[in-house]
Amino acid sequence: MRIDVVSIFPSYFDGLALSLLGRARAAGLLDLHVHDLRDWTSDRHRTVDDTPYGGGAGMVMKPEPWGLALDELAGTTPAAAGRPTIVFPSPAGEVFTQATARELSAREHLIFGCGRYEGIDERVFEDAAGLGEVRLISLGDYVLNGGEVATMAMIEAIGRLVPGVVGNPDSLVEESHEDGLLEYPSYTKPALWRDRAVPDVLLSGNHGAIAGWRREQQLERTRLRRPDLLPTDDADEG
Ligand code: SAM
Repeated sequence: MRIDVVSIFPSYFDGLALSLLGRARAAGLLDLHVHDLRDWTSDRHRTVDDTPYGGGAGMVMKPEPWGLALDELAGTTPAAAGRPTIVFPSPAGEVFTQATARELSAREHLIFGCGRYEGIDERVFEDAAGLGEVRLISLGDYVLNGGEVATMAMIEAIGRLVPGVVGNPDSLVEESHEDGLLEYPSYTKPALWRDRAVPDVLLSGNHGAIAGWRREQQLERTRLRRPDLLPTDDADEG
């Protein structure tokens, strides 16, 4: 998978050289390129923002550098991959979920456009639709200062679903949100720590009982912490 990121703070993404994603990049599973939006400006001050039409607080990102950046990066999509998916993180977008991550992990080429200030001139989104599939995606119902942290979170969630990135694929299947429930609690050695014992069933060696206990825990946790995730019948129970 190829991923291009456009930002006025490219060094935010230095962390993607670490850990699992860093190894995936070294192994050629993720081909990540981070670009400075200012490289597509032509004035002496490398200006990327201007005052909003209609007045109001803050500045808006100018369309010209974005247009040039996206034209160029969309041109790098391998011919066999069709059109790129262009993601603009936005608090006004669809909410990012595990299902979104799974859907986007199947794409050949993702381009992320990180907004700053009051956001990007609206015409950029319209224009980008001529280059690829445009998605405005929110990390949640709160406002960040810029799209960088949201993009990092999305790349991590998407990247770990790309085949080969996480060594043991079973560990992906059992995680929170994969089956619509939160994950069961996990324990490791020692069996007794600060007078707190690991639940007996996990030491029993009875795989059926362990699977049953884990399922109950998943349902109970989800009911307590995230009842909105349960089908209505389950949420109403008990
Ligand atoms: N004025 C915008 C609004 O009210 O919708 C908020 C702009 S925010 C200060 C600047 C940038 O941060 C946005 O363009 C977007 O890229 C990013 N951003 C902020 N909150 C976000 C969220 N919840 N999810 C994804 N991106 C977010």
